[in-house]
Amino acid sequence: QKAEWEKLKTEPSVTKDGIAHTIAANIGTPDDLQGVLDNGGEGVGLFRSEFLYMNSADWPTEDEQYEAYKKVVQGMAGKPVVVRTMDIGGDKNLPYLQLPDEMNPFMGYRAIRISLDKTDIFRTQLRALLRASNFGELWIMFPMIATINEFRSAKKIYEEERQAMVDAGQPVGEIKVGMMLEIPAAAVLADQFAKEVDFMSIGTNDLIGYSMAADRTNERVSYLYQPYNPSILRLIKYVIDSCHKEGKFAAMCGEMAGDQIAVPLLVGMGLDEFSMSATSMLKTRSLFKQLDSKEMAKLADKAINAKTNEEVIQLVKAAVPSEA
Ligand code: PEP
Ligand code: MG
Repeated sequence: QKAEWEKLKTEPSVTKDGIAHTIAANIGTPDDLQGVLDNGGEGVGLFRSEFLYMNSADWPTEDEQYEAYKKVVQGMAGKPVVVRTMDIGGDKNLPYLQLPDEMNPFMGYRAIRISLDKTDIFRTQLRALLRASNFGELWIMFPMIATINEFRSAKKIYEEERQAMVDAGQPVGEIKVGMMLEIPAAAVLADQFAKEVDFMSIGTNDLIGYSMAADRTNERVSYLYQPYNPSILRLIKYVIDSCHKEGKFAAMCGEMAGDQIAVPLLVGMGLDEFSMSATSMLKTRSLFKQLDSKEMAKLADKAINAKTNEEVIQLVKAAVPSEA
């Protein structure tokens, strides 16, 4: 089976009926790049930039960040690289950032909330990204966006930094600016967000946790962490449909994008990009080849009208023989 996947390295990611979807990788550091290339990645769908901050004794400088982003963008040779701005907080702390003691860090001061508060740090990151954009195809996305105003504020700061560079005669690439869709309130309002963003990437790790109000690492409640619960599937479908209505690109970079039960459903919903750990990419490309888009659309329709997580698993297993 491994040998068969190996052959798929240089092939496009298409379904049995020839519909193409992008398979991209989630990475944490530039060192992960080789794994992406070795496994035939068609892009980087999530570069978790916070690792630059976590592996540093103090705030990483603009130049340090620039070098890291440039390396990845150059290494991908024109294939899109989606960099997520700093997602610190929750369970990710920095020794040099005194975070307040909070009852609920996952619902507290984190990600874009910190960036919009400490705008000097945010601006440094954006300048590094703008400079790196000259070396390939770089997109930027903001994590943990809950409201339209947050997206607008972040985008405005980005536009200011971009304009300052243009005014100074520095070159900058064409950059798409999007958001992580990982908060239920944003999913419900996806039709409005889709009018403002260039693209969305669904972060199912957080979206499922916040929707079910369950932490999957807490074993007493981890049974509630249900990726195939029709409630979650409806949110995802609504986000994808909302993007497409506005002609925007819909991606997913949570674990679900490489999950073999979820993939047939996501193909049925017409998800544009599946971003996952590099080691899952060829297996997923192989699964695509067994799937007929129209059949999967019908399957997805049945799934969102099912009642339970378990029912959906049964539906997929019955429809996709390799999952039996
Ligand atoms: C997610 O929430 O699905 C996601 C990809 O972000 P992270 O896992 O880094 O929070
Ligand atoms: Mg997340």
